[in-house]
Amino acid sequence: MTDTRKINLLDLNRQDMGAFFVNQGEKAFRASQLLKWLHQQGSADFAGMTNLSKALRDRLEQVAEVRMPEIVTAQHSADGTRKWLLRLEDGNCIETVFIPEDDRGTLCISSQVGCSLNCSFCSTARQGYNRNLTVGEIIAQLRVACLELGLPQADSRVISNVVMMGMGEPLLNFDNVVRAMDLMMDDFAYGLSKRRVTLSTAGIVPAIYQLRDACDVSLAVSLHAPSDALRDELVPVNRKYPIAELMQACRDYAATAPRRRITFEYVMLQGINDSLEHARQLVQVLRDVPSKLNLIPFNPFPGSPYQVSPREVIDRFRDLVLDAGIVTVTRRTRGDDIDAACGQLAGKVQDRTRRSHRFIVPETRLQ
Ligand code: SAH
Repeated sequence: MTDTRKINLLDLNRQDMGAFFVNQGEKAFRASQLLKWLHQQGSADFAGMTNLSKALRDRLEQVAEVRMPEIVTAQHSADGTRKWLLRLEDGNCIETVFIPEDDRGTLCISSQVGCSLNCSFCSTARQGYNRNLTVGEIIAQLRVACLELGLPQADSRVISNVVMMGMGEPLLNFDNVVRAMDLMMDDFAYGLSKRRVTLSTAGIVPAIYQLRDACDVSLAVSLHAPSDALRDELVPVNRKYPIAELMQACRDYAATAPRRRITFEYVMLQGINDSLEHARQLVQVLRDVPSKLNLIPFNPFPGSPYQVSPREVIDRFRDLVLDAGIVTVTRRTRGDDIDAACGQLAGKVQDRTRRSHRFIVPETRLQ
């Protein structure tokens, strides 16, 4: 049994941990030592932390612990992608995906149990929403992946990139996500470069301004439509934060991190947002924002109302945007044989919104 009165050390970034040690009558620099044990060595055994005094190790046993989610399933795709289903202490489950490539490896991390935004093309939306993840639950996904990939030390050649692109809207869990990203970039923890930590948002405009002031990571924005009328339908949060306001926030973010472009994600839905006219409108929208465009072929899920655009349609769309001078790549679909591709993450959400009840999917896969 875990003792929830004990502090979970995975919840603390360096600053919090320094304060924790000062509270214990210790020096703040102990934080760096403990972070190394926890995150670089993957250790949770206080007794073995020999550069801490015996008295301090005993004290840690009494007041602190390392609480990790339980791995329910670990799946391996034919293309090398791996997906873990993790059970949290309250029984909810989330998913984390590792995508190896020739010259890098990307870990895709969840920020909430489910999602409240209800984008029409996303499988996570169907599950409804339960709650924000804690700092410990966010960083534990990186810790689990390191341990599972056999990396006793966090190895930035294997997991070189982290994207906050799993389940949930990271900017609606602002404080915890920022603290967890602090740990990802902390040299005493995972030491990832700030260019290799990316936060993806559906466009929570005030939080983009806040993020600019709180930490310096790469920003990706799920745009998916070039007009408010269409985006209102696909990404309903657009009704609150329309495209013009979103673009202003993006220009501002890019101005504070010069030479860094914002990545815009655009899911290709057949007959919905994939015409050449949409491409032209998109060029206008992106005109004065330093941007990269990421076209994502729609990944279907049971009961999804859309089809993916045909390859030629995606290529034509890409060429038009490229010709207008915008760096554009089509994202390669990875891990779809284990439902690990973009938009397919589902986990197991104890839905508080009751949204999931509206989408009872017939078990077509069993036929
Ligand atoms: N809430 C954040 C983080 C999720 S990121 C955001 O919206 O950015 C997940 C990315 O996958 C987003 O760009 C999302 O729009 C995209 N996506 C969702 N469902 C998809 C699907 N079925 N096929 C392809 N991409 C999808």
